[in-house]
Amino acid sequence: MAPIVLRTVAEVKSWAAAHHREGRRIALVPTMGYLHEGHLSLMREGRRRADVVATSIFVNPTQFGPNEDLSRYPRDFDGDLGRCASAGVEAVFAPEPGEMYPPGYQTYVEVTDVSQGLCGARRPGHFRGVATIVARLFTLFRPQVALFGEKDYQQLQVIKALNRDLYLDVDIVGMPTVREADGLAMSSRNAYLSAEQRQRALALSRGLRAAQALYASGTHEAPALVEAVRRELRAADLREDYVEVMDAERLVPLSTVAPGQAARVLVAAFSGATRLIDNMPLGG
Ligand code: AMP
Repeated sequence: MAPIVLRTVAEVKSWAAAHHREGRRIALVPTMGYLHEGHLSLMREGRRRADVVATSIFVNPTQFGPNEDLSRYPRDFDGDLGRCASAGVEAVFAPEPGEMYPPGYQTYVEVTDVSQGLCGARRPGHFRGVATIVARLFTLFRPQVALFGEKDYQQLQVIKALNRDLYLDVDIVGMPTVREADGLAMSSRNAYLSAEQRQRALALSRGLRAAQALYASGTHEAPALVEAVRRELRAADLREDYVEVMDAERLVPLSTVAPGQAARVLVAAFSGATRLIDNMPLGG
């Protein structure tokens, strides 16, 4: 069945109120659209964990920097509706920017510590925009469950902190990264890549897997693990934005992964003009 399309805040409120009245559990999957299997895996898991699934498709301007790709972010709304239908999504919230940010809008949510390194350091204001829109979507839908991808690992930690600190009481579910057969993490931004840039982009996942293999062979010092990733980026002639080994929850940099510690190796790099991110677990 085609999902119902909600365009306004008022429509979301009445849709959610009707389900809450009936005692149905709502799962929410926030997205920026141009949906792929990664997004659909979140929606399908939402169906398993709740009675109804809603998704939002909104390219949120406040999470883009002035020189980023807001105006050219890929869009395919009709195709997305079909994909949502196939994943069992009941409602799609697709507001115009002016619906979410009317004149006089002035409230922002900032999650401090976990927003600071990695993408937060390279994209000032990005996580403030993310935390703000997610907090507002939670307020509108009042979902019991919300699903996010580990692909955006720092974002997931920001949302967990937001949910905890504002007592939002949503069950935040982090889902594994869905990859293409050759290892490339699925991303709407992969659409920007030429065939040659896409081939070179495989160095991100190859480098992360090399770090995992090194870790498994007993090397737990961060500089050596980072170097394993860098070697692959250099070989593919990709420009590094960052490569870091961090504690998996607090997202603080580690010099060594302690025995039993859950850690994560995270990378951001440019293939051509396209900035790509990826990460994998170490230890834990
Ligand atoms: P986006 O549309 O890029 O803002 O992503 C919307 C949601 O889908 C976020 O929770 C992402 O982490 C998640 N997501 C994006 N790509 C993937 C992927 N390859 N695997 C799993 N989840 C993903």
